[in-house]
Order: sequence, then C-alpha cells, then structure tokens
Amino acid sequence: MSSSTSPADLVILGGGSGGYAAALRATELGLSVVLIEKDKVGGTCLHRGCIPTKALLHSGEIADYAREGEQFGVKTSLAGIDMDGVNAYKDGVVSKMWKGLQGLIKAHKIEYVEGEGRLVSPTAVQVGDRTYEGRHVLLATGSYARSLPGIEIDGTRVITSDHALQLDRVPTSVIVLGGGVIGCEFASVWKSFGADVTIVEALPHLVPLEDESSSKLLERAFRRRKIEFSLGSRVSGVGTTDNGVRVDLENGKNYEAELVLVAVGRGPVSQGLGYEEAGVAMERGYVLVDEYCQTNVPTISAVGDLIPTLQLAHVGFGEGILVAERLAGLPVVPIDYAGVPRVTYSDPEVASVGLTEAQAREKYGEVETATYDLAGNGRAQILKTAGAAKIIRQANGGPVLGIHMVGARVGDLVAEAQLIYNWEALPEEVAQLIHPHPTLSEAVGEAALVLAGKPLHAHG
Ligand SMILES: Cc1cc2nc3c(=O)[nH]c(=O)nc-3n(C[C@H](O)[C@H](O)[C@H](O)COP(=O)(O)OP(=O)(O)OC[C@H]3O[C@@H](n4cnc5c(N)ncnc54)[C@H](O)[C@@H]3O)c2cc1C
Repeated sequence: MSSSTSPADLVILGGGSGGYAAALRATELGLSVVLIEKDKVGGTCLHRGCIPTKALLHSGEIADYAREGEQFGVKTSLAGIDMDGVNAYKDGVVSKMWKGLQGLIKAHKIEYVEGEGRLVSPTAVQVGDRTYEGRHVLLATGSYARSLPGIEIDGTRVITSDHALQLDRVPTSVIVLGGGVIGCEFASVWKSFGADVTIVEALPHLVPLEDESSSKLLERAFRRRKIEFSLGSRVSGVGTTDNGVRVDLENGKNYEAELVLVAVGRGPVSQGLGYEEAGVAMERGYVLVDEYCQTNVPTISAVGDLIPTLQLAHVGFGEGILVAERLAGLPVVPIDYAGVPRVTYSDPEVASVGLTEAQAREKYGEVETATYDLAGNGRAQILKTAGAAKIIRQANGGPVLGIHMVGARVGDLVAEAQLIYNWEALPEEVAQLIHPHPTLSEAVGEAALVLAGKPLHAHG
C-alpha cells in the first residue's frame, strides 16, 4: 500500500454538489485539495437529479404548449413524444455541463482521484491500494433513493428516480409513491407526456413540507390536469401483475399501472465507509455536524445530503463553501436553513422561503398574512396560469417571516423573496419597491402592498 507524499490540506470524499463546491472554493483560497469520486463529478444533481429532471420537465412544457396552442390562437397539435429525442436533449445538457465542470476542476488544480474511497483514519482516505492523507477530511458521499419495507426495487416495473431518468418510453400509466418534490415533478412530466398518473402520499397533502395553502393550490392544479392522488394513504404492498404493477393501500383501495415510481425520500450514503470506525457521531446513517459542518472529530467535516439538513444542491454548495472558508481561516457564519429557497419544478411550480404560516405562528405567536391571487396578475393571465403569492409577517409591524408562491415560473421569483426574507425586510419597505409590469413578480409586490395597508389591485 502506498501513501501520497505530503498530506493535502483537504481530502474530499465524494464529488457531488457539496464535495466539488468545497474543492473549488478551497483551491481558490490557496489550499491543496484531493477530490475522490467513484462515479462522475457532479454527483446526483448533475447526473441523476436537478439537471436531467428539469430538462424532462422542459420537454413536458413544450408538449403542453403544442397540445394547448389553440388556446393562444396558434394552430399546433402534439404528434407524439419521441423519448429517444427527449433523452438525447436531456443527456446533451448534462454532458455539456459535466464537461464544463471537469474543466473547472482541472483549472483549479484539484487532484482528482477516480475510485471508491473509504475513511481509514481521522485524516486519511483509502482508494484501492493508495492512501490519501489530509490535514482535514470532508465527507460528502451524498444520498440514495430509499424504498419502503417490503417494496423491492426491480428497476423495470418498480423503479426509483434513477431508473425513471433512463426510461426509453412514455409509460401508459404510473403510480408515484410519495407526493414530495421528486414525486410531484415526475408526476407532472409524465402527465405532460400523456401518461395516466396517480400519486399516493401518506401525509395529508402533496409537497407536505410547504405551507398548507401552497399544497392546496398545487392539489387544485393537479386535479385540473387530471393527475390523480390519494392523500393520507399508506401503502400495504406492491406486487407485479401480468402487465405491470399493483399497489395496495392500508385503506383497502388498490391501483394498477404499468410502472410504480418509489419516491419516498432519500437516505444517506454512509454504510461501510469507515465513518463510525473513525469515531464520527452518526444518527440513522446521517453524519452529525455542528453549525459549521464540523463533526465531533475535529479533523472531519461533512456536507450535503449526508448530513441531516435540507437535501438540496444549493445547500450542498453553501455548506461546501462554508467548510472551505472555515478551513482557510476566513470568518464564517452558520447557514440559516429557513432562508434557503425551495422550489418544486412541477407545472405549476411551487416556491418558498422562510417559515410556513404554521411554523411562524408556533415561533412568533401572532402573525399577519396576505395572499395575492394570480387571477389579478396580468402576466399570469397571459400565461394562463393559476396560483398565488402569500407573504407572512410578524404581527405589530414585524418583518417578513415567509413567502410562498404557486404558479408557472414562480421558481424564478424566489430569488427576490429570498432577499426579502433574509434581509428581514418590512412589507412597508417591499411595498416601496416598484415591480415591473406586466410580470409575475408584481404578485409579490401586491401582497406586500396589502400588508402595508395600501392594496392596489387586491380584491376584498
Ligand atoms: C430526482 C432528483 C431531483 C432533484 N432535483 C433537485 C433540484 O431541482 N434542485 C436541488 O437543489 N436539488 C435537487 N435534488 C437534490 C440534489 O441532487 C442533492 O441535494 C445534491 O446532489 C446533494 O449533493 P451531495 O454532494 O451531498 O451528494 P451527491 O450529489 O449525491 O454526491 C455524492 C457523490 O459522492 C460519490 N460517492 C459516494 N460514495 C463514494 C465513495 N465511497 N467513494 C467515492 N465517491 C463516492 C457519489 O458517486 C456522488 O457523486 C434532486 C435529487 C434527485 C434525486
């Protein structure tokens, strides 16, 4: 077994969003970095997550436009979905970004190691017969698609998002287990492609982590799109039939379809990687960290889906940057996770930042809310989208505590919402800002005008 000559400043295990962001920032700050990745740099987000799903959703949007052109006076019709063409487009986007990322890694002079690593001490990772020593180690091995007890993923009829992204056909019918972000995004795209879709969610609402008002608006929109869903429903079994699958629910109902997508959450990739042996504190497979992403072992940090924070690529980026800056001796501030924007890219989109109304009431007692219905927004009418922007503020003149939006393209509005929440703006200050007309962003301005006591286009 050989060892690298002198220890690097930082050895990173896992080249996904969290790991590569730390590598880029650390080298920018003059640290020497070894980045170990067993598959492809970019990880889940680039190869099996954010980017390919959003490409599929964009193809779905184009299919809907083709189908609905007449509504806008344009004679179009949907001749069909060519999945080879869709996949070529999606894979083209991914490979272009992958190439760009590989170029960045090279340009930053990061020592990139291809292979499966294992933590062998608080300062070393082994890959094959080589050991990479570091003054510090960052664990960033990410997450995998979980299943439910008794449900076996066979990759053909019972699939996860990994398989769904590789499908070479549009299924005639799909049951989606889990009405969270990933489940709703796939339900949306398959419906756009022409499949019959049923979502089964154990909790009382779709996107259950969102403000209840957003969940209800999404449910209304999905109902209109004829996406079926069964809420508060627990699965008792999944079996195969002659032509597909059958899902039995505890309430006695059952559904049959060609495919079932299991989208019930993601678990940390941490088993058998030497973390516990190195003394790293863990819980349910997640690596535990303090607010600076440091574990109980001073030389070891962890970021991304491996730690029990929001499982989002931009959270991984933020945590990776925080670790790199801390190790380089820069002053760092803990991440306010409530201030991280969240987007579900279904049709319609759901976007939010800050606290839900229930969380705000629990934390602050009295709050005030204003909801601006997109029915009053010119751009929304042009796009023929329904939804709303809701702002929650602390009572008695307090700042904005949360912003929740549903509608086409509201994911793009969350950048403004993020500034409002994170700068603890008062609705009166937001009301002072003139929003461009006609844009969807006016809905945020209008909700702020309501809270500031000077509504413009608001009814009642
Ligand atoms: C279908 C889907 C859609 C998503 N959409 C979005 C979205 O729109 N927006 C968003 O913000 N987030 C989205 N996410 C979540 C996002 O992809 C993750 O939060 C993000 O990828 C987490 O980054 P990470 O670095 O922690 O882990 P990962 O990206 O999973 O990277 C971990 C890396 O570690 C490597 N690795 C693991 N073990 C080893 C080992 N022993 N040795 C060497 N390498 C190893 C893996 O190969 C992998 O490349 C989505 C996820 C999925 C599944």
